[in-house]
Amino acid sequence: MNKITIAIDGYSSCGKSTLAKTLAMSIDYSYVDTGAMYRCVTLYALENGIIKNDQVDKESLVGQLDDISISFQHSEQSKESDAYLNGVNVEETIRGMDISNHVSQISIIKEVREKMVAMQQKMGKEKGVIMEGRDIGTVVFPDAELKVFMTASIEVRVKRRYDEMQAKGLHVSVDDVKENVLSRDYEDTHRKHSPLVQADDAVVLDNSDLSEEDQLNFMLKLVEQRT
Ligand code: C5P
Repeated sequence: MNKITIAIDGYSSCGKSTLAKTLAMSIDYSYVDTGAMYRCVTLYALENGIIKNDQVDKESLVGQLDDISISFQHSEQSKESDAYLNGVNVEETIRGMDISNHVSQISIIKEVREKMVAMQQKMGKEKGVIMEGRDIGTVVFPDAELKVFMTASIEVRVKRRYDEMQAKGLHVSVDDVKENVLSRDYEDTHRKHSPLVQADDAVVLDNSDLSEEDQLNFMLKLVEQRT
């Protein structure tokens, strides 16, 4: 079967990563979580005093972009791919609330996006990749053979993110999670550069009432049609 490029975009916490990971395993594709990359830049900015009192020193961040190296490495322990920032495994740290609360301030910066998009295009140039994020089908791979736009009700999304954080031992309130999800949706859809929009040729997947198995079957059918 010829390999294609699969772009999955959508709102925060609608299960893009879970679906992308299971699909990647079942069809033997590679998987890239582009949100993790923006989260890594945010961590770098927080650790290096570039975000102070909730304000981003954009000039300083842009000046240091070449010092930020992001990679993914397979973890034997989790059997998944962990994010590395300048050689350090930051998979757990980047999922915390502090990063979630600042990432949209970083992802609006044009120069940051240009760097991330260039890396993503390089990672997916051989095809056989499932990439998920906010601008994959519109900016990173506008010619992707399969584009899916995911959505789910706000209640379902908040519950998923809350449960996920609890499972990781990260204690937050449901209200804080809801506020963060809603504010990221707003920022991501209203920013000037590469806002989250549904590509004209994307298939919509509302998974509010779908099991993980239903979603995988839905995707497998689409993949079969497009390959
Ligand atoms: O997918 P995740 O929730 O981890 O993404 C974190 C943030 O990274 C998003 O809220 C968005 O601001 C940014 N992002 C982006 N473009 C992408 C992926 C993520 O702007 N392709």
